[in-house]
Amino acid sequence: MADILTYVLHYEGALNKNSLGAVSEAAKQAAQIGGECHAVVVGGDDLTDELCQTLGAYGATKVFRARGPEGLAQPVVDVMAKVIEDHGHGYALFGGGLLGFEIGAGLAARRNAGVTMEVTTVRAEGDELVAERPILGDSKISVSRYRGGLGIIIGRINAFEISKTGGASAEVIDVELEYSPWSTKASMIERGEQRGADVDIEGADILVAGGRGLGKAEGFRLAEDLAAAFGGNSAVAATRAVVDAGWYPYAAQIGQTGKTVAPKLYLAAGISGAIQHKVGMQSSENIVAINKDANAPIFEFSDLGIIGDLNKILPKLTEAVKAKKGA
Ligand SMILES: Cc1cc2nc3c(=O)[nH]c(=O)nc-3n(C[C@H](O)[C@H](O)[C@H](O)COP(=O)(O)OP(=O)(O)OC[C@H]3O[C@@H](n4cnc5c(N)ncnc54)[C@H](O)[C@@H]3O)c2cc1C
Repeated sequence: MADILTYVLHYEGALNKNSLGAVSEAAKQAAQIGGECHAVVVGGDDLTDELCQTLGAYGATKVFRARGPEGLAQPVVDVMAKVIEDHGHGYALFGGGLLGFEIGAGLAARRNAGVTMEVTTVRAEGDELVAERPILGDSKISVSRYRGGLGIIIGRINAFEISKTGGASAEVIDVELEYSPWSTKASMIERGEQRGADVDIEGADILVAGGRGLGKAEGFRLAEDLAAAFGGNSAVAATRAVVDAGWYPYAAQIGQTGKTVAPKLYLAAGISGAIQHKVGMQSSENIVAINKDANAPIFEFSDLGIIGDLNKILPKLTEAVKAKKGA
């Protein structure tokens, strides 16, 4: 029987979607191994009792709240290390994303624990957890088991689904601690805004992704127009080829060296479908590809393929979406 600890990021009173997925997954797995799901939150006055208690709805039974800077890894490592030392958690589980990677790696070093990153599946074997992660361009699955002590599991972005268990509100426990000297060396000056970073591609339901087939930086206007027509939770994403060419910001890059996404709809325009791109978007619910080359690899893993010139198809699609929405 082991409890599972998660970390929940928040910003301006809203809990991060990826973190809620981690809490939901931890609660699901804790039930399998006879333990409980607990969460750590770090922040200021905006971390009200009410906000923390809402984590109960996702399956957390206890929320450990510490005063400290939000959005920086080392202070969170300090808090989690202390909570684990005091309460003896068997596992720490994180949603993906750069912060989760940094905290998980820091915690592994601090606690001499085993860590598995980019995990897509967690399952129980008896009273222990096993983590699975795709390797070698997603052609094989590597299975991690943890030997005693603490096991750290870091998911791929959006690998863990958010689910409301309808549980009671979580108990909020304040954690008092002195941060390590190195943890207070960095402070958050401001949250930077990058062009394209104002859209949350990891949380978007619809992504219109553009590749080299868009021809030039200005070609992204076609993708932006379509995303705007979809409205709501839609955003524009990009391949590495166009990011490297400076056509679109890195924040929007999908793939092995970019972000991993799983929207409801991934519309790929002028993207060949290289394996390094595929690994970042293949879990999308519906993949629609527009490419003028009928032999483009992307058609091998698309639900719907449109063979043709995107310069003609995208504007028509945008008009059709607008017309449908206006109807
Ligand atoms: C170590 C490593 C890591 C990498 N990491 C990533 C990563 O994270 N993400 C990533 O995306 N890539 C990554 N890559 C690069 C990857 O291998 C591909 O080079 C890249 O994804 C190709 O981008 P693209 O599809 O935009 O361009 P291309 O491969 O050049 O494809 C352009 C496509 O557009 C089509 N097209 C052209 N004109 C039109 C038109 N008018 N209408 C319709 N279709 C048209 C073409 O038929 C073609 O299929 C990585 C590579 C390496 C080696």
